[in-house]
Amino acid sequence: MTRAPRDPRIAIVGAGMSGICMGAMLKRAGIDTFVVFEKAARVGGTWRENTYPGIACDVPSRFYQFTFAPNPDWTHRYSPGAEIWAYFERVAADTGVAERIRFSTTITEARWTGTAWAVSASDGTCEEFDFLVSATGILHHPAYPRIEGLETFAGPAFHSARWDHDVDLSDKRVALIGTGSTGVQILGDLAGKVDRLLLLQRTPHWVVHLANPAFSEFTRRLHGRFPAYDRFSYHVNRKIIEALSPALLHPGRTRRFLTWLTKRQLSRVTDPDLRAALTPDSAPMCRRLIISPTYYDAVQHPDVEVITTPIARIEPAGVVTTDGTLHPVDVLVLATGFDAHAYLRPINLIGPGGLTLDEVWADGPRAYQTVAVPGFPNFFMFMGPNSPVGNYALTAIAETQAGYALTWIARWRRQEFESAMPTAEATDRFYVGVDEALPDTVWATGCTSWYLGANGKPELFPWAPERHRVLLGRIDDGDFVMTSAAS
Ligand code: NAP
Repeated sequence: MTRAPRDPRIAIVGAGMSGICMGAMLKRAGIDTFVVFEKAARVGGTWRENTYPGIACDVPSRFYQFTFAPNPDWTHRYSPGAEIWAYFERVAADTGVAERIRFSTTITEARWTGTAWAVSASDGTCEEFDFLVSATGILHHPAYPRIEGLETFAGPAFHSARWDHDVDLSDKRVALIGTGSTGVQILGDLAGKVDRLLLLQRTPHWVVHLANPAFSEFTRRLHGRFPAYDRFSYHVNRKIIEALSPALLHPGRTRRFLTWLTKRQLSRVTDPDLRAALTPDSAPMCRRLIISPTYYDAVQHPDVEVITTPIARIEPAGVVTTDGTLHPVDVLVLATGFDAHAYLRPINLIGPGGLTLDEVWADGPRAYQTVAVPGFPNFFMFMGPNSPVGNYALTAIAETQAGYALTWIARWRRQEFESAMPTAEATDRFYVGVDEALPDTVWATGCTSWYLGANGKPELFPWAPERHRVLLGRIDDGDFVMTSAAS
């Protein structure tokens, strides 16, 4: 006699892109017994928190969407942030995920009771769930620079992910610290719109100039009318990026072409001194490659000054560089990046026997095939350590990781097990492969970036993103410790 499938209680932490993806895929599988906990009052994660001028996604929009929620209405090849945020809000509403979200609820702790996850929120409530899914995002803890006197600055000072839209910049002298993907996008938008813009560059990054054409009304209608055409576009974009990714990671013709291209595009900077200042000494892609349609024009705008002398301190009136010069400014923008190694922390994750995630990760974050952690049953993680999060669509990674979690959840429904967690040995085996492959990649050619963990190793997936999909496309029971369902 076949038993009716059980309804799993599932806690998803975070209603950003990944949490919405998990919720939507559960709904599509006919599972409605989940709660999405969201600390803020709206969905959207990084796209809600980052509203800085110039924000866009440098992954083509036709690919930066869920396969189950095509969007024919993208306005540009690389669409602006507000449009992407609106897309995720729409997906959450259309799929019914929005109804399952508990807003303004911050999860502080999740403790395995022996049979379930007891999930506690800051409002004092605690509920039990059969599965815990972390969808807390990877780039969401702003990294504030340790610069002497930062707190003494007299004017407005804010991180790029905490943009203060009440400050009118049009007549202001603005200091922009940071030249990563965010700083480059901000500069591209603000150059010429503020009184003066001082770009404080510590290290130059390689930038690829790619045009960002608008999609015509006709194209948008075509995508709306023929979903198969939209799917085709998605797969073409994916194929191109997936073919380029591994080729760009290793020495060879494609890498030589990228090096040639980035140098050639840098020659758009006509002043030789400025060009020299903007020339990185690391290989392109060692740090995340920056894609911008505007950077080299913006950086040469007459109202923009690039300062490469290191910052000594901040004073109330401005930025003092190590040559003793005070650069007077009215507003300080910190495009100084994120702590990409916190993952779901500061949530206190406590597994069987009281083992905490902090203890398990004392020597650095590690995950079984990017999605699960030994010692923590019925727990899955989006964008976990060594996920393929470089120049790739995180929407595609989320679908892969959600599909993997869903397969386990479907088995639980069929009562094939009660709890499952990867073994330490299987996780070690995964890292033998990772550690063998990483030194051959461009990320290990000697540069600093948020890719590197505290041990200096890149916390990235060292193979083609396609391999991630294949890896998570199957389940290996031998890699897991399972307790069986009560009969
Ligand atoms: P980031 O790449 O980590 O860049 C931070 C910048 O701040 C770097 O230029 C860094 O200098 C500088 N900085 C940090 N501390 C400093 C200090 N004390 N003094 C002077 N400069 C300092 O951060 P991000 O630009 O926010 O980008 C992070 C990631 O977010 C990207 O790599 C990407 O994955 C994602 N992102 C994606 C998009 C997109 O379009 N898809 C857009 C924006 C961001 P150093 O270079 O010397 O360290």
